[in-house]
Amino acid sequence: MIVTKTCSKCGNCKIIEEFKIPGRICKYCVNKNLREWRAVNKDKQRIYYKRYQPRIKKWRKENKEYTKINNKKYYERKKKEEQVAYILMNLKNYNY
Ligand SMILES: [Zn+2]
Repeated sequence: MIVTKTCSKCGNCKIIEEFKIPGRICKYCVNKNLREWRAVNKDKQRIYYKRYQPRIKKWRKENKEYTKINNKKYYERKKKEEQVAYILMNLKNYNY
């Protein structure tokens, strides 16, 4: 059975697999939005990375073997990061 959904952004009807994050926007629009958001929020992103870099570095150091072995988990984490970016992107009153 093919389940389809209509993207609220581009208005195209797409199969459920095309929806990266459970929501109303297809993955193509999400990627497009992310790219645009990143371009607009370059400075904000830099601040974000600066703020979380020690934590990220620490995590990477502690989980070096873990990430190496668990590539899938690493991928999931990356996916989660993308989801976080997506959520941040959609927050209307977003302040650092
Ligand atoms: Zn779309």
